[in-house]
Amino acid sequence: MKSASTTLRSVDELCDRALVTRERISELSEVAARYAVAITPAVADLIDPSDPLDPIARQFVPDARELQQSPQDRHDPIGDDAFSPVEGVVHRYPDRVLLKVVNACAVYCRFCFRREMVGPGRGGLSPAALAAALDYIRAHPQIWEVILSGGDPLVLSARRLKDVVASLAAIGHVKVIRVHTRMPAVAPERISASLVRALRAREKATFVVLHVNHPRELTKKVRAACARLIDAGIPMLSQSVLLRGVNDDVETLGVLMRSLVECRVKPYYLHHADLAPGTAHLRTTIAEGQAMMRALRGHYSGLCQPAYVLDIPDGHGKSPIGPNYLSEDRTAVEDFQGRQHEYPPRT
Ligand code: SF4
Repeated sequence: MKSASTTLRSVDELCDRALVTRERISELSEVAARYAVAITPAVADLIDPSDPLDPIARQFVPDARELQQSPQDRHDPIGDDAFSPVEGVVHRYPDRVLLKVVNACAVYCRFCFRREMVGPGRGGLSPAALAAALDYIRAHPQIWEVILSGGDPLVLSARRLKDVVASLAAIGHVKVIRVHTRMPAVAPERISASLVRALRAREKATFVVLHVNHPRELTKKVRAACARLIDAGIPMLSQSVLLRGVNDDVETLGVLMRSLVECRVKPYYLHHADLAPGTAHLRTTIAEGQAMMRALRGHYSGLCQPAYVLDIPDGHGKSPIGPNYLSEDRTAVEDFQGRQHEYPPRT
């Protein structure tokens, strides 16, 4: 069995670690040839190979169903390409841009919405492309917030990250730098003192948004990694994707949200799964998602409530998708137990 000290990057390595059976190697190699595979030691340790329904395996171990395309699947599900004025920048909303600094990740999620764009060896922005992206941000004073994304920006070395953060912080109108990452959950040892220092910028706010989908991902080491960021003055939020067989039941979702709040990480987004190719088996319906949000609101603290959002295909942006508690004619409001109340009440 392969040691747990290195990232597993091929189906053969997954087989050596007993995460897939020998009979599945051939079909899963076809999946791996199409969509990248990487499972870090921290994630491999969380998978129970004896459980065919393991929710961690479902997120990271390739599945033959990924080769099936549904008619709804889209190569660029959230429409980044249409809003990219220069390489690496997505400028969809007036006051913020995405800066995609790198196209690699520490793990490759089976449901990834950018799965056609990310992978090992895909590289990141060249120095010239990064300079052009920074020039674009400098030239647009309405850009108040820059969201570092990818790939996972925290695959960059602390030194490179520091340079990017410092360059952004030097732009007067950029006040907030937001980093979207899976790294604290999948490789918590990467959240070193130097990496934490690299993320901080004088007189600018840095937020880290942790991508995590199941409460079992929040191990002691992961919680400690989050604490290192938060104790250094970096507020944390979370984003999760609603995934069939991973977190599509209220109890799992509720425990996940509570665990995050206990770690001082505020639940921010629950994404409806995007129409990424080969991911139909992981998607729920919107009605199921709304029912879960309704149950979450009924049973868990307000601190545990993320916004349930959908990225509208073709780049039309993110919208909250309910549930809605106000009646269509705006004369009644539903309470957390599903009872209707006239508003304003007739005295
Ligand atoms: S870490 Fe994010 S960008 Fe990378 S594979 Fe997972 S979902 Fe995609």
